[in-house]
Amino acid sequence: MGFVPTMGALHAGHLALAVEAKRRAGLVVVSIFVNPTQFGPSEDLARYPRDLEGDLRKLAPAGVDVVFAPDGAAMYPPGDETRVRVGATAAPLDGAHRPGHFEGVATVVTKLLGAVGPCVAVFGRKDYQQLLVVRRLVADLLLPVEIVGHPIVREPDGLALSSRNAYLSAGERTRALAIVHGLDAASRRFASGERAARTLEQIVRVGLEPAATSIDYVEARDADTLAPIAGDVAGRAVLAVACRVGTTRLIDNVVLGEDPPPLQGRA
Ligand code: AMP
Repeated sequence: MGFVPTMGALHAGHLALAVEAKRRAGLVVVSIFVNPTQFGPSEDLARYPRDLEGDLRKLAPAGVDVVFAPDGAAMYPPGDETRVRVGATAAPLDGAHRPGHFEGVATVVTKLLGAVGPCVAVFGRKDYQQLLVVRRLVADLLLPVEIVGHPIVREPDGLALSSRNAYLSAGERTRALAIVHGLDAASRRFASGERAARTLEQIVRVGLEPAATSIDYVEARDADTLAPIAGDVAGRAVLAVACRVGTTRLIDNVVLGEDPPPLQGRA
């Protein structure tokens, strides 16, 4: 069984995950569930884009066999009180800026994996920290699941595909490109020998500051543990960004020296 959990409003990034699942498994399940427990009280749960009909039309050509689109009461039955407690992997970055977010993610992923059963589950590396949190939870809770990370799928101009891109005005969409341009510049500087974590972060910040409405973080961290990097990048490192453009929160990242610079080969 292959499994791709999503919150719907599907785009080519989600579909690439489904195709990867189909490559690895005979039967592919995609879930569509906008999980309330991973949204903070001031976040976009109510306005999160929902388009089940459109999603179903996109999934059949991707080779998806089963769509699981439960309602809230099916996932959180009356009297529901159990949560999956996350640890250090979930503490920095999005964990620091979205209190309770990863507990909500870990809880719903555990429920979904319980419903689907033993499977290979494909997650996008756009939500890099989420991928690490889920890997940790599968190992810690002894779940019979193989986790696969899929590279970030981008628009032709480099913007990472996201359901939230639908919120962006044309002007905001242009400003959002500062994220990938910054990550690309830092990635190229890394390739030409720069190792100072603060310098690599600063390369992204300089372009992002005039474009973003606010910046939650630009941080280079250990790519396996998300531990902070004090001076130079020595092992595998992820350079991760979260910012707001207008009211839309966007995230992106690059694994330095491993992912190609995100604008490489683009117009
Ligand atoms: P979401 O519907 O946003 O919760 O995302 C569902 C899954 O799709 C997660 O594993 C995401 O990391 C993945 N995903 C979303 N956008 C992209 C993208 N641009 N490239 C690769 N994976 C993505």
